[in-house]
Amino acid sequence: MSKRDYYEVLGVSKSATKDEIKKAYRRLSKQYHPDINKEPGSDEKFKEITEAYEVISDDQKRAQYDQFGHEGPQGFGGGGFGGADFGGFGGFEDIFNTFFGGGGRRDPNAPRQGSDLQYTMTLTFEEAAFGKETIIEIPKEETCDTCNGSGAKPGTTPDTCPHCHGSGQLNVEQNTPFGRIVNRRVCNHCDGTGKLIKDKCRTCGGDGKVRKRRKINVKIPQGIDDGQQMRVSGEGEPGINGGPPGDLYVVFNVKTHEFFEREGDDIYCEMPITFAQAALGDEIEVPTLYGKVKLKIPAGTQTGTRFRLRGKGVHNVRGYGTGDQHIHVKVITPTKLTEQQKQMLRDFADISGDTPDEHHESFFDKVKRAFKS
Ligand SMILES: [Zn+2]
Ligand SMILES: [Zn+2]
Repeated sequence: MSKRDYYEVLGVSKSATKDEIKKAYRRLSKQYHPDINKEPGSDEKFKEITEAYEVISDDQKRAQYDQFGHEGPQGFGGGGFGGADFGGFGGFEDIFNTFFGGGGRRDPNAPRQGSDLQYTMTLTFEEAAFGKETIIEIPKEETCDTCNGSGAKPGTTPDTCPHCHGSGQLNVEQNTPFGRIVNRRVCNHCDGTGKLIKDKCRTCGGDGKVRKRRKINVKIPQGIDDGQQMRVSGEGEPGINGGPPGDLYVVFNVKTHEFFEREGDDIYCEMPITFAQAALGDEIEVPTLYGKVKLKIPAGTQTGTRFRLRGKGVHNVRGYGTGDQHIHVKVITPTKLTEQQKQMLRDFADISGDTPDEHHESFFDKVKRAFKS
């Protein structure tokens, strides 16, 4: 099914101002909000409007949409990665509340969106960089099928609690220096349900609810970073009074890597080289996310020199190119020398004199000046 153009959905021109977009959204969302419009299909229509608004009202997303269309480099909500999109904007409940002034005074019997769920997923450094498709299991409470939620064995019905007479609450009288006070508390005989079950349902043990595990397929885009989250629409708790379900937020926890460090889309690493390699130059092999890469070390390389491998970083999660890999060279001073090696170094030192070379001479002069002042 091809998606409609977001501007068309909102009924605005491609050059519409933010204000015009907001006005159009406000008008359409009032018209199609499932709390107001009970016509079949209004729910879908409302979602379409909300999705369009979420993209077009955001400068960065709008620019990306204008350039790439629905598919985008990564796709928008419901497009590129199977009904999932990034956090950063709330569910439509949030937007509803922003425009319609809170949900506090709403009818308790009106359809309401189910609660959002949060799931923390731990990824390896590589999984975060390359993305992956995985199945997650979400524990969820569901009505027991055996007893249809009553908690009583099929064929029996729960009795009204004789202690609270079905109210679920007990009055407790207390004598205090200020007189007699009546407190209400939850009935401890029926735990506030007002009912006592003689023959408990064997499936749920009288709870009327069972915990089930639901499997959800999640497509993690490449380039996700530690602490980022992804929204999977409609996979939260079921809606109340026939309302839409909540969303599932998958929060990512990315493990550290023993060799690489990541900052944004760039990768940093340290490469040890020998004194001889640094002085004479060499070609070394550097591990990258994409396999080993040869790096030329020029003769006379100092410790701390940084080299850059373009495009060997992480692919940007929103499709804005790829980062670089930065290599920090560390010259290792040899510690276990043979007598022959020591002699060669002494000879080397004799030929070189006390000062390392012109480059360092000026550096040592600076140090000397710093101590004099
Ligand atoms: Zn049951
Ligand atoms: Zn009771």
